[in-house]
Amino acid sequence: MIREAVIVGAGLGSRLKDMTKDRPKGFLELNGTYLVEMSVRKLIEHGIERIIIGTGYCNEWYDELAKKYPAIETVHNANYSGTGSMGTLEVCASLVSGDFVLLESDLLYDSVALFTLLNDPHRNVVLGSGATNSGDEVYIAVDERQEVWAISKKLEIIGNPFTELVGISKLSYRTLQAMCRFAASHHHDMPKMEYEAALVGAQRMGEHLYVRKVEYLAWREIDDASHLQMAINHILPRILENESLRQVRREVLLNPGPATTTDSVKYAQACPDICPREEEFGQMMRWICDELTGFVGSKEEYETVLFAGSGTLADEVMISSCVPHNGNLLIINNGSYGQRLAKIASVYQLDYEIFESSTYEALDLAALRTRLEGKRFTHLAAVYHETTTGLMNPIPQIGRMCHDLGIVTIIDTVSAFAAIPIDMKRDCIDFMASTSNKCIQGMAGACFVFCNRNELEKIKDEPMRTYYMNLYDQYKYFSKTLQTRFTPPVQVLNALRQAIIETKQETIKARYERYTACWKILVDAVEELGLEMLVNKPLQSHLITAILEPQNGSYSFDMFHDLARERGFTIYPGKLGNINTFRIANIGDIRPHEMVEFTKFMKEYFLSN
Ligand SMILES: *Cc1c(COP(=O)(O)O)cnc(C)c1O
Repeated sequence: MIREAVIVGAGLGSRLKDMTKDRPKGFLELNGTYLVEMSVRKLIEHGIERIIIGTGYCNEWYDELAKKYPAIETVHNANYSGTGSMGTLEVCASLVSGDFVLLESDLLYDSVALFTLLNDPHRNVVLGSGATNSGDEVYIAVDERQEVWAISKKLEIIGNPFTELVGISKLSYRTLQAMCRFAASHHHDMPKMEYEAALVGAQRMGEHLYVRKVEYLAWREIDDASHLQMAINHILPRILENESLRQVRREVLLNPGPATTTDSVKYAQACPDICPREEEFGQMMRWICDELTGFVGSKEEYETVLFAGSGTLADEVMISSCVPHNGNLLIINNGSYGQRLAKIASVYQLDYEIFESSTYEALDLAALRTRLEGKRFTHLAAVYHETTTGLMNPIPQIGRMCHDLGIVTIIDTVSAFAAIPIDMKRDCIDFMASTSNKCIQGMAGACFVFCNRNELEKIKDEPMRTYYMNLYDQYKYFSKTLQTRFTPPVQVLNALRQAIIETKQETIKARYERYTACWKILVDAVEELGLEMLVNKPLQSHLITAILEPQNGSYSFDMFHDLARERGFTIYPGKLGNINTFRIANIGDIRPHEMVEFTKFMKEYFLSN
């Protein structure tokens, strides 16, 4: 699996004259987007976690870009005017930790180029294309194994070229080391070495650099003003069309999970088959666990344990594993999910009691405290965000109260994690459950329990109540072997990895702001229509809104649902005792403009029914 990319972006771009007087070549604008930013987005969409950019000329532009893309790390080649692109790659090399994709900064390309390289079975692949007639071609000649023989602009050196160099390659860590050794031994006679020369040098030193030719690849390197015009008029439209042809039909899911996903998350499932007991897959699961933990706490104090299954499975894992045989549990019930926690406790015949609270009014913290002080409970279970109604429970206050009283907290954060910024330590949460298909915006099929390590160690000798869903066993086995005890959902985890990369890019804070922007659009429309919401706005999560069904007119949920579906929106019913509601969730990869479209439809429907 390729996790890193290096972009060499130090060059002066002097042939672009005025256009690069104040900026590096990568910052030419096409359709209002910087060339290199388009490339960065494509890399992230293809599962690249770290993008190392070697900067030189006008490096502050890249440093600025890095603020917008946490995946970017810049490194400055202070001697950029005295070296070629290989000098910049040498500066980047110390940051590279494995196999990687190497790109030039001034490339416009169809993202199929990345897909092709990442899926090519060869370890080192140099990408080539058919004739571009750009006037600035770099040719590649190959040997009988279709490996690099020579790379040059001069046909008299190349003879009969096999292909044109695109400027995107997949390289092993070892090959990078060979390139650096080659460059180091030529610092005196070739101070301005380009990386192409080092590729050839590495091949001569015994590395195998396979050349992959994609005859009709849409791409252009932009070195002068005519290239830029060509790119804007001819290449970019082709790329945009090609990429749009690969888009998956968009469905805006306004149901409370599984949530709408990006195409890049969907495509991440189409990965090479792999036995999950391979070290490589184990390392990926380790990364997933560490990154999930990183969203909510420190890796030293907290640990994430993965299971195959939906969110309820993670709830069941926690309830059945975390309360010891001599423990007793208080469960807060103010909605279907609180009730579900109680149901699980009853199935395992735990010693538990229920704290009932209104499904749509604020929880009474004083009453809860009285209850907790009245009897010595060892554990408390609650739902962070009651998805039934959109009611938020004051978990940070409840958590603190419990910790003051020495009570361990078990929280269902299935519909809160990755939307609401949670800090397990600050919020006094010891165990919490979530799933891959809600606010983290991955596919359904994996779930996880976040654990306070100290509390996890305390249940180590507890007799198991369940075999498959035992938290400590799963944790211990994975820590020792980098394998889950039973088959993990391989493709779902690949998609989860991509979803994590995209969550880190967006950040949970900004995601909550996006969700809130969508919620505001919805609530404005609801109020404009005079519809009533079940929960008062200040208590709402901004993630899902329960709206009372109108009693008059010809409203029918089924009709409303079917018409919405025809427009590409999926809505959800919600029944609470004898109160009928419909529910609009705004979690997942949905954008404010889509919420505007939905509210237009909603107004049309309610004004005519
Ligand atoms: C969605 C959800 C669950 C789990 O539902 P599954 O269908 O098992 O994924 C549990 N708790 C809450 C609060 C939820 O929103």
